[in-house]
Amino acid sequence: MALMITDECINCDVCEPECPNEAISPGETVYVIDANRCTECVGHFDEPQCVQICPVACIPVNPAHVENHDSLFAKYIRLTQDEAS
Ligand code: SF4
Ligand code: SF4
Repeated sequence: MALMITDECINCDVCEPECPNEAISPGETVYVIDANRCTECVGHFDEPQCVQICPVACIPVNPAHVENHDSLFAKYIRLTQDEAS
């Protein structure tokens, strides 16, 4: 599953540099996660790095982007190949 950031985000900016997939960016009001780039950190870390570091716990699973581990790993491979090409 991709994760998402809720409007409880305080725009502290600590999560953006922690994301191994560059999936997090400033949005119009709060930070946003690109579901096409979020692998829940599968392929990089055992735990979602943004969730680990967020001080206000505002990063739940995105119900619009439910994916299993295989799908997340396939996304990780695709992103890695995009970077290499
Ligand atoms: Fe990035 Fe990992 Fe957070 Fe997804 S779970 S946005 S890949 S840090
Ligand atoms: Fe928002 Fe949490 Fe990221 Fe800070 S760490 S910018 S509060 S989502």
